[in-house]
Amino acid sequence: MPLFEYKCEKCGHAFEFLARSSEDAPRKCPQCGSSSIQRQFSTFSARVDNAGGSSCSDGSCSLGSCPTGTCPLS
Ligand SMILES: [Zn+2]
Repeated sequence: MPLFEYKCEKCGHAFEFLARSSEDAPRKCPQCGSSSIQRQFSTFSARVDNAGGSSCSDGSCSLGSCPTGTCPLS
């Protein structure tokens, strides 16, 4: 059974959840009871906070350089 990592968006509590099936998921934070929990992908957990940002979020560009066209990813 896969062990997934989840993080509460309300209190920031990170916890692991053992899924018995692919659709099994925790319904609320075990610490504060909030249902605002987000699945974490352990391999990329350190980068999740930057997901959804600009294409430069990987750090290959200095901040603000993209609009000028100096970013190789733009
Ligand atoms: Zn919580």
